[in-house]
Amino acid sequence: MLKIALQKSGRLSEKSLELLRECGIKLASGDRKLKMEADNFPLEVLFLRDDDIPQYVEQGVADVGILGENEVWEKDKQVQVVEKLGFAACRLSLAIPKEVSYPGTTYFEGRRVATSYPHVLAKFFQEKGICAEIEAISGSVEIAPSIGLADGIFDVVSTGSTLLMNGLKEVEVVLRSEAVLIAYPHLDELQRKLLDKILFRIRAVRKAAAHKYILLNAPNEAIPDIAHILPGMKSPTVLPLLQPGWSSVHSVVPEDMFWDVIDELQRLGAQGILVVDIEKMIL
Ligand code: ATP
Ligand code: MG
Repeated sequence: MLKIALQKSGRLSEKSLELLRECGIKLASGDRKLKMEADNFPLEVLFLRDDDIPQYVEQGVADVGILGENEVWEKDKQVQVVEKLGFAACRLSLAIPKEVSYPGTTYFEGRRVATSYPHVLAKFFQEKGICAEIEAISGSVEIAPSIGLADGIFDVVSTGSTLLMNGLKEVEVVLRSEAVLIAYPHLDELQRKLLDKILFRIRAVRKAAAHKYILLNAPNEAIPDIAHILPGMKSPTVLPLLQPGWSSVHSVVPEDMFWDVIDELQRLGAQGILVVDIEKMIL
């Protein structure tokens, strides 16, 4: 049995559960208890506050866990970061009142900065040789400057709208974070095997999400050029159409190249282009 710690409720909860579901792991829906066992995989889910996950995984109370890298850095526990998961992207940034001009990191010399990430911030200031006062608070950091608690803040930012609403501007991006899978460094052989199994599935799901399946009709003379643009996993599939001189080409393209590729394909005479989601992808 492998024990996985997930955030009980918050920005990571739904996405973490969805990832397990996409990996074919069935969890009973409905009210979320503190613990839950999967129906079809030797996995037990522990629902915790994300702040506590690094400690539980360091101690082996949970074997693995999903949380933001920002919490992993802040808690600085002995855990292994196994895989980046590509969701909950955000950054840890310094922000100051928007009407104040910003000369660079020297602004913070001798100033007070409010944050829930005192450890990460202390390290940053130390690297920059800045001596500042760090006010560690556990929430609502963004109001600290307006109530006179601090001259700036260091906090998690994604769109920046919270900063804007509180009259702040982002002046330094210190670290970029996303959700990660962490593991207890001393898993036994069986647990390691179960982790590898989950990891294999996670990678197949993430690869699939990053690609599209593409089908098109093309004149035969364009096939070499099209095959060059659509190399696919090994090579594209080319099937003859009933209409002489034409073929159907099937391949896989990375999602981020998709629109560029479409333009080029049309230029080469491709028609009837279909683009389809891929559910799982194993190389
Ligand atoms: P908990 O009650 O579990 O301690 P929390 O309030 O600490 O929850 P959430 O606000 O749910 O945490 O955020 C969880 C994680 O989501 C953050 O640690 C961060 O990695 C990520 N995240 C992504 N975008 C944002 C954002 N705009 N603000 C805060 N966190 C974000
Ligand atoms: Mg938290």
